[in-house]
Amino acid sequence: MKIETKKSWLTAIVLLCLSALTIGYLATVFLAQRQEEPIYPGPGVTEIKMLSDWYPGLKDTAGDTEVYVLKGAKEGDSMLVLGGTHANEPSGLVAAVLLIENAVVEEGTLYVIPRANNSAMTCTDPQEGAPTRFTISTPNGDRWFRFGSRATNPVHQWPDPEIYVHATSGQRLSGSETRNLNRAYPGRTDGNFTEKIAYGVAELIRQEDVAIEMDLHEASPEYPTINAMVAHEDAMLLANSAIINMALEGVSIGIEPSPTNLHGLTHRELGDFTDTYALLMETSNPSQGRLRGRTDSEMVVTGKDKFYVKAAEYGRLYVPYDEAGHPISMRVARHICGVTQVAAAFNELGLGNLVMTNIPSYAEMEGDIGPYLAPPAA
Ligand SMILES: [Zn+2]
Repeated sequence: MKIETKKSWLTAIVLLCLSALTIGYLATVFLAQRQEEPIYPGPGVTEIKMLSDWYPGLKDTAGDTEVYVLKGAKEGDSMLVLGGTHANEPSGLVAAVLLIENAVVEEGTLYVIPRANNSAMTCTDPQEGAPTRFTISTPNGDRWFRFGSRATNPVHQWPDPEIYVHATSGQRLSGSETRNLNRAYPGRTDGNFTEKIAYGVAELIRQEDVAIEMDLHEASPEYPTINAMVAHEDAMLLANSAIINMALEGVSIGIEPSPTNLHGLTHRELGDFTDTYALLMETSNPSQGRLRGRTDSEMVVTGKDKFYVKAAEYGRLYVPYDEAGHPISMRVARHICGVTQVAAAFNELGLGNLVMTNIPSYAEMEGDIGPYLAPPAA
């Protein structure tokens, strides 16, 4: 009896030590996701501000986030580009970074928020087996980026209610949607953490009189709204002209009207609650899909997955898909082409003036965006 007690104590101590080591290791991995990927401001960046400059309620919170301002020498109209609304849709973040590092504005102002939900960049979604980082090769070394979560980190907003009631419409969604930035618009100052971030974005648009807002997303290849531009009804003419321009640049893209009964999204609420032309773009991202196989950083970058090839053969997808996959270079190139052609259409239609240069074309980027990302600092 005495010997058995001794043994169980020993086992308990060993198990305790192993648990402590595992927790220690996982905590390091978890906390490492708070380290921000480097962004190197390009020749067009005139100022780096924080979202709290427009809504001070975000100051010193994980919801505050960098806003890169690219102001032209000539007065003109402005555009806001949002990357990272959903941090598990990486082409939005990378497209925003590419704009920051390349674009030069001659007339008007471009505002870029690469990490719209900064909190969502600091964790991944449970039970998805997603990588925490991925890298893109440039001619002078690899650049790393975080792969985050669809929603605000529960560390920053908890607990979720059973049912999420959208504040201005009364729309009822499942509880976890309460942390989804793209269900939180137009936001409110006395709401939850995610609603405050949404309010900050809406305030930037109102205070700066932003003419065009573009929210860059991705969706899984089996999702119906894909390779599409979603437009608020006020922005439909602009979106139509832009997608014709995109087609002329070799990018085939659909157009979807923003549903009037689906609330909390940028293309609905920013169009209703501000004077901006509200647009959202979707590219195809196999690494967030339900049909995918092993999910690692290579899959995030190459967009290759043999199960999606099979799914395409069975006609289960809404986009063409084969062994070539949907590489992130092509997805980022589509987003950038959208931004460029929306600005061009805005000028052509006589809606205002926003002239941007030094942005690579779709053809230049489609195969490899590496040359258009700044080399990593030594
Ligand atoms: Zn999304």
